Amino acid sequence: VPFKQHHFGGCVTDLGGVTSHTAILARSLGIPAIVGAHTARQMVREGEVVIVDGVHGVLIVDPDPLVLEEYQKRQHEHESQRQKLKRIRGTPATTRDGTAVDLHANIELPQDIEQVRESGATGVGLFRSEFLFLNRGDLPGEDEQFEAYRHVAQAMRGMPVTIRTLDLGADKTVNSAARGGPNPAMGLRAIRLCLAEPQMLRIQLRALLRASHYGNVKILVPMLSSVSEINQTLQFIDNVKQNLDEEGIAYNRNVPIGGMIEIPAAALALNVFTKKLDFLSIGTNDLIQYTLAIDRTDEEVAHLYDPLHPAVLHLLAHVINGANKAGVPVSVCGEMAGELAYTRLLLGLGLRQFSMHPSQLLGVKQRVLTTSLPEITSLTQKIMRADDPMKTRDLLAKLNVA
Ligand code: PEP
Ligand code: MG
Repeated sequence: VPFKQHHFGGCVTDLGGVTSHTAILARSLGIPAIVGAHTARQMVREGEVVIVDGVHGVLIVDPDPLVLEEYQKRQHEHESQRQKLKRIRGTPATTRDGTAVDLHANIELPQDIEQVRESGATGVGLFRSEFLFLNRGDLPGEDEQFEAYRHVAQAMRGMPVTIRTLDLGADKTVNSAARGGPNPAMGLRAIRLCLAEPQMLRIQLRALLRASHYGNVKILVPMLSSVSEINQTLQFIDNVKQNLDEEGIAYNRNVPIGGMIEIPAAALALNVFTKKLDFLSIGTNDLIQYTLAIDRTDEEVAHLYDPLHPAVLHLLAHVINGANKAGVPVSVCGEMAGELAYTRLLLGLGLRQFSMHPSQLLGVKQRVLTTSLPEITSLTQKIMRADDPMKTRDLLAKLNVA
């Protein structure tokens, strides 16, 4: 049975950080999760009742009846909050002062599209296509990939569907393309692996371009760091297009090609990205990992993972500003985009497009609807100038009241 069709009530791991792909997958299963618990496997025995409080990161083993009752109450409240939010599903995400914001969804597999449509998302901002390759013995061929991409493109009925080319490597590997290396996060991952394994990339690009004929498909390239990688990738796409032309196969000639900004070098050397690409998407999970030199899968350093670190905020501001000035659409598709605590801060930095797990979308929309951009400008600027983490957190709390 595919992983996603199992019925799990919750998920606890001893390893991993909150932005590891284990955590992202748990989010997409819609279940409470705790990662990096260290000793959970020693503490929990087969058949025991456990409470997984994913909000506070608390695991309660064999709870007494009063505790269990309290948590059942909380679970119901949580559920009724979610039900209430459904009322704004069809409401356009517009700030109080009338600025439109795009709220898109992240997906891992074609079947996630059901939930995306229920969430009221106005597009798919990130389809992590590599999940088609995981948990199986073989690699999906061109036709299988084409069907998957076309399914999503058609289901979204003309809304943008941003499909990311393979981001294999690091904490997502398939046996046939395993190239671990001494430090996988900094090794042959994503577009690097693809350029080293051109056959895999060629098959995927053919499938993507063919699917572009059936909907509003955009192609997003992960882990770009330099102009030569951009050029090689664009050249590669041109070659695949030529082949399709020769074979008389239909595709959208103007399919937009975008790049993930998730390596500090890309953020700092932004000009070449805005010049050569049609859109950008900031992968904060990796951007934070590489900026702060914190392995996102290593729970030993998870406490150092800090989206509010001034270095991170300045990189974000730089990319959002630079893209806005160049007139190149930019979104954030890392976990930061779905966290309510950061919605206003990102709006204040000029972000107008967010992509997140569908379960987070209505909460974020609610926050957008209650935000007035003129009112948050000065606090946002103060946060950017703050150099004391306590002060930053105080200011952020102020930004988020009301
Ligand atoms: C990111 O790095 O923020 C991102 C969206 O990509 P992934 O989490 O798949 O690495
Ligand atoms: Mg990434």
